[in-house]
Amino acid sequence: MSLKGKVALVTGAASGIGRECVLNMAAKGAKVVIADLSLEKGNLVVDEIKKAGGEAMAVSMDVCDEAQVNAGIDACVKAFGGIDILVSNAGIQIVYPIEEFPFADWKKLLSIHLDGAFLTTQAAIKHMYAAGKGGKIIYMGSVHSHEASKLKAAYVTAKHGLLGLARVVAKEGGPHGVSANVVCPGFVRTPLVEKQIPEQAAELHITEDEVIKTVMLKDTVDGTFTTTDDIAEMVAYLAGTETNAITGQSFIVSHGWFMQ
Ligand code: NAD
Repeated sequence: MSLKGKVALVTGAASGIGRECVLNMAAKGAKVVIADLSLEKGNLVVDEIKKAGGEAMAVSMDVCDEAQVNAGIDACVKAFGGIDILVSNAGIQIVYPIEEFPFADWKKLLSIHLDGAFLTTQAAIKHMYAAGKGGKIIYMGSVHSHEASKLKAAYVTAKHGLLGLARVVAKEGGPHGVSANVVCPGFVRTPLVEKQIPEQAAELHITEDEVIKTVMLKDTVDGTFTTTDDIAEMVAYLAGTETNAITGQSFIVSHGWFMQ
């Protein structure tokens, strides 16, 4: 699928899934913006894309900060002439049993996932409406948008919340040609997951290998991690498809963990 002439901004794109999404969309012809906390790390991804012949820029953006979000999206529009695709992907994980979950950590996680999705949507959709060319908004959900796991009260709550936001954006954006969908990965071995393996082993009093086999991959059909490529291809499909028939939906990419 070609994304030639399209402009895509991805939050949390200096690492993991977001990074793969920008590399893949740039390879398919999009101009991409890496929006992440660290401009330095974002610029490393820009260099990689430019070396491969693509077009990219980085902006420093904390997705919880309204002024930084607006400035980053305005910079994208100024540099590349618009914004056609928003991938709201920035995220963190914090695990505790509910009775020990620090309120500050609960609020921090919800803010990054939900305030971040709201603020970036609001900033991007104004430009999409004004340009009159429609747009694609893609939220990085999770199997945890549909399923629960122990120790993940804040994450499961946030990822379920994204389904609601996507459905509202689909309804409001529809008449303007803007679609909104959620991509729901299973476990992908990014820094976010590598950090959880020892944490969960300590909380659950099991080995790291047991965390992988009996917690993370237990319900997959083949005991296999999903890859950043798997997710980037799904995102590129939703970003590039001509039709807006697909909107308000979620797409689980998880080796069969949780079947709808
Ligand atoms: P990652 O840790 O590799 O990357 C996350 C990126 O988000 C980092 O570059 C980080 O700097 C950035 N970030 C964090 N807080 C931010 C903020 N306030 N503002 C801007 N950027 C911020 O993690 P990942 O695994 O690639 O996760 C990306 C998304 O995919 C997250 O929303 C995560 O919940 C979701 N997800 C991941 C998995 C998985 O197994 N890895 C599974 C399902 C969903």
